[in-house]
Amino acid sequence: MSITAKNWKNKKGTSGRSCNCGSWKQHWINNSGKPWPSKCSIDGCNNSATLGAHIINSSVSGEKIVPACDSCNKLTGEFDLKGGIKVVTANKSESCER
Ligand SMILES: [Zn+2]
Ligand SMILES: [Zn+2]
Repeated sequence: MSITAKNWKNKKGTSGRSCNCGSWKQHWINNSGKPWPSKCSIDGCNNSATLGAHIINSSVSGEKIVPACDSCNKLTGEFDLKGGIKVVTANKSESCER
């Protein structure tokens, strides 16, 4: 099952959240089974990925985490993801606190 790359938005007010992984970056690594990418996941961005961003999409249920840079984590409008980006769930009961 592939997930859409189009029309994602940042979920607001998530900076105080944490999980068992210690950081959302580590959460992405633990749950994706992939190495941390060198670049941000947002289409058109060439910055280094520094954090796990909480993102939402009207056609996808639940909140997701993708590797992103600081400036993309502050985007207020919709954005697209690069192709092939692994999106992991932010729902702890389906991932690290299962
Ligand atoms: Zn976690
Ligand atoms: Zn970026």
